[in-house]
Amino acid sequence: MKPADLVRPEILALSAYHVADAEGMVKLDAMENPYRLPAPLARELAERLAKVEINRYPNPAAPRLRARIAQAMQVPRGYEIVLGNGSDDLIQIITFTLARPGAVMLAPEPTFVVYRMNANLSGMRFVGVPLGPDLDLDREATVAAIRKEKPALVFLAYPNNPTGVLYDEEQVAEIIRVTPGLVVLDEAYHVYAGRSFLPRMGEFENLVVMRTVSKMSLAGIRLGYLVARPEWASEFNKVRQVYNVNVLTQAAAEFALEHLEVLEDQAARVLAERKGLGEALAALPGTTLYPSAANFFLVRVPDANKAFERLRAQGVLVRNFHGAHPMLANCLRLTVGTPEENRILITAMREALA
Ligand code: PMP
Repeated sequence: MKPADLVRPEILALSAYHVADAEGMVKLDAMENPYRLPAPLARELAERLAKVEINRYPNPAAPRLRARIAQAMQVPRGYEIVLGNGSDDLIQIITFTLARPGAVMLAPEPTFVVYRMNANLSGMRFVGVPLGPDLDLDREATVAAIRKEKPALVFLAYPNNPTGVLYDEEQVAEIIRVTPGLVVLDEAYHVYAGRSFLPRMGEFENLVVMRTVSKMSLAGIRLGYLVARPEWASEFNKVRQVYNVNVLTQAAAEFALEHLEVLEDQAARVLAERKGLGEALAALPGTTLYPSAANFFLVRVPDANKAFERLRAQGVLVRNFHGAHPMLANCLRLTVGTPEENRILITAMREALA
């Protein structure tokens, strides 16, 4: 008996999410913030974690952490926060909650592949609406597809990954209005975009805003959160694994959010680098750079496979999207790093494109 005889065909057809080995590399492949907690704070965190009762199960409601998030992120009153083991976990929770037989998940593409993966895993039918040639929303095509397909669930990454493009706010509002189902606005990069629909939650009954601390220097602790109306939150909480956010993560996130200004400063340092890095990338021969509202750039080069290998040979790890989607042909995604990392990247790119 082989797995192929028993495993669900849609799982056999999937490939596992690929994470490259980054040992010893300048790691610019995963949109992490390059800065660690300052040493005195790291020591304080260690003391805090030492007090955590790791012999006990976590409090599944995580009341202190949720209150801290509500305050730090100015979550409007009357909404609930649901926590996830990263926003990857929340994407799965939302999808599994809405995956009635025959239900449609819709998203503009190319986008974060985990949406489509979860549609496949849960038996939802996935409809991808192609972005325009500038990798911005094709408003008319998206609205027409929503009217035709009547999706139960729409994912919009705001700004989008892997393009970095921030869609027009009023076009997003229109999409939310015309969607008969639930719209999840994935604001993973909100600290870099400086835009959010949280203050507009009250305008839309069918809107959920999802975020993560991963891009705010905390990718390793795995914490995502979503903001939803209480009636939606209570359905998601039935699907959520009861102990999905462990005691160490809860304690570390509470600690980090008590020092929000440190995280914000780390994001600001990356933002200060974004413009210069963008200009340097755009000036390289044969490149097309897409405008980014996030902490990374998508850049089209003459030969992405060759450039990726040449960068790797120089110790620089980026993400190669060639072959992932026709609109991403010869595209590399580069995370904004420290000034030093960005200098290394530009020098390595010059060599890789020569
Ligand atoms: N949404 C988007 C748009 C992303 O780019 C990512 C991570 N690359 C995620 C969600 C998942 O983030 P997390 O680390 O919270 O699982």
